[in-house]
Amino acid sequence: MIFENVKDFIKQNKLPLYRISQIRQAVYENGISCWEEATNLPASLRQDLSENIKILSFEVIKVRSSKLDPVFKALLKLHDGCKIETVLMKPGKTWSVCVSSQAGCPLGCAFCATGKMGFKRHLTDEEISDQVLFWFQYLKKHNLGDRVSNVVFMGMGEPLLNYVNVVKAVHTLSSADYLNIGQRHISVSTSGIADKFFNIAQDLPQVNLALSLHNADDEERTRLMPVNRKYNLETVKEKLEEYLTRTDKFYKG
Ligand code: SF4
Repeated sequence: MIFENVKDFIKQNKLPLYRISQIRQAVYENGISCWEEATNLPASLRQDLSENIKILSFEVIKVRSSKLDPVFKALLKLHDGCKIETVLMKPGKTWSVCVSSQAGCPLGCAFCATGKMGFKRHLTDEEISDQVLFWFQYLKKHNLGDRVSNVVFMGMGEPLLNYVNVVKAVHTLSSADYLNIGQRHISVSTSGIADKFFNIAQDLPQVNLALSLHNADDEERTRLMPVNRKYNLETVKEKLEEYLTRTDKFYKG
């Protein structure tokens, strides 16, 4: 959900502005899954919202859980029929969500099922942040917890190829008005799109950047990850050093 659409809806319908904070509370604090559950709103407004605004921008096809570990995987269908996956897990004491940033992926890593699907399209910022909103709702609904503490961009797709929408989604996720997940608790994992390292250091200096290396030999790495032809190990190293210089400056002020 893009919350700006809710604000516009309230204003266009000349409803009292305090409804905006009530709706924000229902969605981002109470974790409602449908407008009917927003019992802090009058029935007529719940009905109007149901007819005009979707809380999630996709349909949840199924959720599977692990028998052994606190791990849940959801299959989601986007408005155009593309399917993506997202995962909720609790590796320690807190819940983490793994999000997809693309439907499919153009990079074709040899070990990756997503790579074999080919590339369908970039996800919108709404489709990315809604994956976390969905798991927040899920935690609430099943009394599993009150918040998602960490987000990792390690699902389908290469996040740095969908740079603008990933940056927007991080801003939504970390906004105190929405899910309030600190940027230090968000990690972006890349196969090595080195041209974007400097951008991410500038735009999201607190976000963790993780490199998926897989092999430290250029020839072997190219065999596993064809992206290494464009950004070989030397280039990745050089751009990472620039990244570290830039982010160090941020932390030292
Ligand atoms: S970049 Fe990630 S999603 Fe894309 S093919 Fe490689 S491992 Fe799979």
